[in-house]
Amino acid sequence: MQAIQIQETGGPEVLRLAELPIPHPGPGQVLLRVEATGVNFVEIYFRRGVYKAALPFTPGSEAAGTVEELGPGVSGFAAGDLVASAGVLGSYAEYALVPAAQLVKVPAGLGPEKAAAAVLQGMTAHYLAYSTFPLKAGDTALVHAGAGGVGLLLTQMAAKIGARVFTTVSSPAKAELSREAGAAEVILYTEQDFETEVKRLTNGKGVDVVYDSVGKTTFDKSLNCLRPRGLLALFGQASGAVPPFDLAQLNSKGSLYITRPSLWHYIATRSEFEWRAGDVLNWAARGELKLRTEHTYPLAEAAQAQIDMESRKTTGKILLVP
Ligand code: NDP
Repeated sequence: MQAIQIQETGGPEVLRLAELPIPHPGPGQVLLRVEATGVNFVEIYFRRGVYKAALPFTPGSEAAGTVEELGPGVSGFAAGDLVASAGVLGSYAEYALVPAAQLVKVPAGLGPEKAAAAVLQGMTAHYLAYSTFPLKAGDTALVHAGAGGVGLLLTQMAAKIGARVFTTVSSPAKAELSREAGAAEVILYTEQDFETEVKRLTNGKGVDVVYDSVGKTTFDKSLNCLRPRGLLALFGQASGAVPPFDLAQLNSKGSLYITRPSLWHYIATRSEFEWRAGDVLNWAARGELKLRTEHTYPLAEAAQAQIDMESRKTTGKILLVP
């Protein structure tokens, strides 16, 4: 089968197409014929070596496709089922192994590309909006990278709950998309200081929660945007890791809370995984959650897909189609 393989960590050039044997599923695993796989920022951290994986490895974190073969002990799935998962290691490939515990059937009418576009970033938005800081109508939230994959989905979910959502984006075109997703106020951070804007928009009060996936370049100002006892959910680091931090600042800035959450801790049980995946895929199938997939690349162009994501050219979901 064709697969992307990383022999050494580094720039996009380390993403090389290779011919590898089709793997066989072990106990509790399913072999998936990958029909679409998502590109996520997390795969860039692995490629750069910021997050560690044993070399050589095939990158990837999510996919949708057809069940090809069941490993020993797997029940509830059959060959030919259309399924999706956010637990697919090595999904930049024609075939991948998935633990059956992290697999769901795709609802009728959704199709593999839409399922792959929704599953990982959708469940991330879901846990942030419903669990990390369970939003309610009238809450105020600041979402960075508002036109990105997670950003567009999180904005839609937060707006549907009734929260007032502020977003930051880097360009007028991205601002338009963020507004369409339901942002009440979009801050063009390349022209305006987002901290000043958030304070102005909240009459100096600050927001209840900041969902920050940018990290190094936004962290300090994100804290300054919070109301007393507000929460910063630092869920990514697209601009780099946040340096060591003096906890006394949480006191002086208003008894603030910070968490550094990960999707894996919010889908660790089958019931929580089914809840989040079920909500996201069903909302997408019913058209209640809009998916934007404007960037689809063949598998061989995985490097270009990551270059475009890193250089902030992309909006919404990026897919690779083997
Ligand atoms: P996005 O589609 O959001 O792409 C990243 C966006 O970040 C860019 O489009 C850009 O938007 C913004 N950005 C700001 N500064 C930089 C920078 N220096 N370099 C690159 N981009 C920058 O990616 P995803 O939706 O896949 O992921 C968003 C974030 O969520 C990532 O940080 C990812 O790691 C995190 N994540 C965390 C999870 C978790 O459970 N903890 C799970 C899934 C994702 P703009 O042009 O508007 O600035």
